[in-house]
Amino acid sequence: MSATGFAHRREKLWHLVRNQPADGILVSDPVNVTYLTGFTGEDSFLLCGDGQATLISDGRFTLQIAEECPDVEPFIRPGHVTLHEAVAKVVKKLRWRRLAIESAAITLDGHNELKAKLEGVELVPTKNLVEELRQIKDDTEIEHIREAVRIAERALTVIRALCLSRRTEKELQTELEYQMRRIGADGVAFPPIVAVGPRSALPHAVPTGRELGQGQWILFDWGAKARGYCSDLTRVLLPKKLPAKIRKIYETVLAAQQAAIEVIRPGVPASEVDKAARTVIAAARLGKYFNHGLGHGVGLQVHERPRLSPTSQDILQPGMVVTVEPGVYLPDFGGVRIEDDVLVTRDGHEVLTTAPKEIDEVLLWD
Ligand code: ZN
Ligand code: ZN
Repeated sequence: MSATGFAHRREKLWHLVRNQPADGILVSDPVNVTYLTGFTGEDSFLLCGDGQATLISDGRFTLQIAEECPDVEPFIRPGHVTLHEAVAKVVKKLRWRRLAIESAAITLDGHNELKAKLEGVELVPTKNLVEELRQIKDDTEIEHIREAVRIAERALTVIRALCLSRRTEKELQTELEYQMRRIGADGVAFPPIVAVGPRSALPHAVPTGRELGQGQWILFDWGAKARGYCSDLTRVLLPKKLPAKIRKIYETVLAAQQAAIEVIRPGVPASEVDKAARTVIAAARLGKYFNHGLGHGVGLQVHERPRLSPTSQDILQPGMVVTVEPGVYLPDFGGVRIEDDVLVTRDGHEVLTTAPKEIDEVLLWD
């Protein structure tokens, strides 16, 4: 990502801030700071105004700032000056009268400190200004997400080539994490979920010492991070001697997912995509077992805007990358979720994930 790319993002943000109206914004959400500057350290805030970008940080990051974001002005605070005091100093120097703040990313203490130090400056609470920009991915971001998808998929291919029998959920979680890093991930997008048999009825199961036994199925929900960007996939591997009940659930979830993916294109309400999947699952009389939203945006964070759910107000736009992950979970029996990452294109969509998911492609053994 070039410096001009980050400057372009800050300029877009400035247009939103100006309309508040405000003279500038204090960006205190660390992911938003990264998005606007390329800086990956912590404990640092960005002050962003008209052609103005000051990164308030401390001595641990002087070199890192020069390396990662040479185009922003660093303000390195000495140890005895708090982060919020340093913000107040810079705001006074800039003579800003109205300072936008990210109300979801400031502590009560931080807010009180700013108020006390910035007499005569109005603090203007804002919500989701940067998050809204982050919903629409540019070409570089899409490339990074593609890479994160490729790494995650290759890791599953390696895992499938191993003998999975008698391995525990925890062992397989560790193996997946190791393989993603070995293949080139910066890290994991989140700790992988590995759930055997009845454990798969928990949408966010925490891996245990349970082993994959004969005749059981196993759910993997995992993702890699590549250049800061996440992927997020779910696959269920099935036993060859497939019980009719789990086959029916799997087929229903797969059909629901396909129905949802088909309606993805610019201008479609995110709630409609959710509805397309929910209708298929309800028709199979499994509606009450689909107990979460259909999907979410992925990017620098594994869960970000937009939301695909019955109550979502979001409208799909080109450049959004969303997960489509219907699931059916029967308590004490088990569940199936199938999750892919989908890019909204100018005239439709592109499924970025390619890991096999047809029943005859996900069978485990005899
Ligand atoms: Zn997932
Ligand atoms: Zn997800």
